[in-house]
Amino acid sequence: MGARLRICHLYPELLGLYGDGGNLLCLVSRARWRGLEVDVEEASLGDTLPSGRDLYLLGGGQDRQQRAVFADALRTKAGLAEEAARGAVVFAVCAGYQLLGEFYVTAAGEELPGLGLLHATTLAGSPRLIGDVYAEASTPWGGGPLVGFENHGGRTRLGPELSPLARVIAGAGNNGEDGTEGALAGTVFGTYLHGPVLPKNPWLADLLLSLALGRGEPVPLDPLPDREEASAATRARALALARRGRKAPAAPSRPTRRP
Ligand code: GLN
Repeated sequence: MGARLRICHLYPELLGLYGDGGNLLCLVSRARWRGLEVDVEEASLGDTLPSGRDLYLLGGGQDRQQRAVFADALRTKAGLAEEAARGAVVFAVCAGYQLLGEFYVTAAGEELPGLGLLHATTLAGSPRLIGDVYAEASTPWGGGPLVGFENHGGRTRLGPELSPLARVIAGAGNNGEDGTEGALAGTVFGTYLHGPVLPKNPWLADLLLSLALGRGEPVPLDPLPDREEASAATRARALALARRGRKAPAAPSRPTRRP
């Protein structure tokens, strides 16, 4: 292909719970397997947000790390919004997802202002929402089954204009009440799913890659075999359904379209 993908991993040492760093490895591997050049850069506390990158990645973290990250990240608010507006992909998990919202009220009652890229708000609640999740995702570019692991106290509510990334079939998702999981606005993606989520859901990893390479307009990617990934996803889906005392449907749904 000969193209170059530039990824910026934000706060990697603070936001990386439950293997979220695997999302970066997954994106890099899937790009390189297709012959793409990949540059990875990290930015953390006090660093200037690198501009002009194709994909910005954020993971999850606990309230303590989140407090430091939220305070620091406000400096990058306008910059990250500009990057997203010109089609860069922003992909964030759990604490990173909460950061992209309007605010997060911690378990201690402290309100941490977010970056406002997603019109969503999060309040810490109890009990924690923990376990395997199976949801069905839908995006303007196709969708598919989405599996992963959640562990969060925060309850996220989406504003009326904001689309969820997926509908929960087994698990809690955004708040355990309205059946939504994650959010999607333009090329800004948020999800509660760890695991890490991208290797278990290669169709989503490829969608992010294809949008990032096309600056918001998906470009076609060569298919990859994904046998191990498919069996990991099937197993994760069965675990999520079993956990909720439900039986797995006979045939797993397939991604509707590959980017
Ligand atoms: N501290 C946040 C919560 O519990 C985020 C947790 C996480 O990133 N796993 O809601």
